[in-house]
Amino acid sequence: MRIVINKQACIGCELCVNTCPEVFLEWGLHMRAAFEVKEPERYQALVRKAVEDCPARAISVT
Ligand code: SF4
Repeated sequence: MRIVINKQACIGCELCVNTCPEVFLEWGLHMRAAFEVKEPERYQALVRKAVEDCPARAISVT
């Protein structure tokens, strides 16, 4: 599972980090535009929630 963040759309609210810190905390530290999720099966539901809840619709998953 690969996550892409639209950095221009992101407003930095950190909702995604609060929803699934195991996946998004590292992103928050490095601010990469795209990254792979280790153990995707484990975090699938929380990542989906983060995508749905992002107020800027800045997260996409491939
Ligand atoms: S929830 Fe969306 S807008 Fe908020 S920090 Fe995460 S990617 Fe950015």
